Amino acid sequence: MTYKISEGGFYGEYGGAYIPEMLWRNIEELRTRYMDIIQDESFQRRFYSLLKDFAGRPTPLYFASRLSAQYGARIYLKREDLCHTGAHKINNTIGQILLAQKLGKTRIIAETGAGQHGVATATVCALMGMPCTVYMGKTDVERQQPNVARMKLLGAEVIPVTSGNATLKDATNEALRHWIAHPLDTHYIIGSVVGPHPFPDMVARFQSVISAEIRQQLTEKEGNPYPDYVVACVGGGSNAAGAFYHFLDDEHVQLIGVEAAGKGLQSGHAAATLALGKPGVLHGCKTLVMQTADGQITEPYSVSAGLDYPGVGPLHAHLFATGRAKFMSATDEEALRAGLEVSRTEGIIPALETAHAFAILPKLNLSKDDVVVINLSGRGDKDLQAYNQLI
Ligand SMILES: *Cc1c(COP(=O)(O)O)cnc(C)c1O
Repeated sequence: MTYKISEGGFYGEYGGAYIPEMLWRNIEELRTRYMDIIQDESFQRRFYSLLKDFAGRPTPLYFASRLSAQYGARIYLKREDLCHTGAHKINNTIGQILLAQKLGKTRIIAETGAGQHGVATATVCALMGMPCTVYMGKTDVERQQPNVARMKLLGAEVIPVTSGNATLKDATNEALRHWIAHPLDTHYIIGSVVGPHPFPDMVARFQSVISAEIRQQLTEKEGNPYPDYVVACVGGGSNAAGAFYHFLDDEHVQLIGVEAAGKGLQSGHAAATLALGKPGVLHGCKTLVMQTADGQITEPYSVSAGLDYPGVGPLHAHLFATGRAKFMSATDEEALRAGLEVSRTEGIIPALETAHAFAILPKLNLSKDDVVVINLSGRGDKDLQAYNQLI
């Protein structure tokens, strides 16, 4: 069984590039050039130098002793919250802006949900002196004000999107529409392992630095590179893809993705695509999609804007179909409580997205020698308002 992308851009039956004619040139340019560019030695040198000196990598792998005592296992936290801008998103935006420069692009567009990807994109655009436009659902603009202010401060233009329920899916539609109208000078920095091939593979490769570091750090701390579990939350799936990547072929490492069950899996207010979705096409790729019986996209819901997406990366659809990874879900309530618990047990306030990953710890049936790595995808400063209702 392979979990890597095929020549044609598929993971099993999922992936591909289902795009309008007008987007074909852009995607074809990316598809034919991305591997040569990102595997080039000078690109790699520049990428890793920025990850180190600008983003602050390697991020620590922290042994969480109090959480470990509480759950009776050896729990490590991969501290992506300590990356510059506060989440794993910067790994991908550094990679993609270097790629955009190699392609001769002069303008950057992006979509954002919670605003973390928008901030990470605005940051690298400021770094490189490139103009930046970020599409963001109006609902998200309202619930994520601090990140909107950060993007503007960094010089980006933020365009509120009012279609649909004005969240991430709608912002992504609008960014794709803009790209179609400006194919020559613009690169679209997509924020997760979604979209038409080669985006899912490209973003997974940029994020795979997470699992490369975990292997090395676990070898130092535990004497071998293999944890028993790797746990990560799943919106589009980029932090999970990065944390799983270098373990995909090590079948004894259990990979666990955690989706947002919102107000309950069956409540009609959830964003757990692998649990609830059916095969379909969303934003240019075949994957699992939350939809009605006649194929209309269902509006997703989660308290966490970064998980509020009706699709999921095709890699995860494949990991789900093959059983290589197990997917669980946590409700708003469970995530908020888990985030509060981690704050008070370890002195780390996790992003609400990440809090979903912590919420499944009680359901894992851990034993004391189990080594668990939780990908702490981002910090929770942006979520204080939501946490406030608990204290
Ligand atoms: C954006 C975001 C996510 C969700 O995106 P993925 O592509 O699934 O990783 C999760 N955690 C944090 C902190 C985020 O900012």
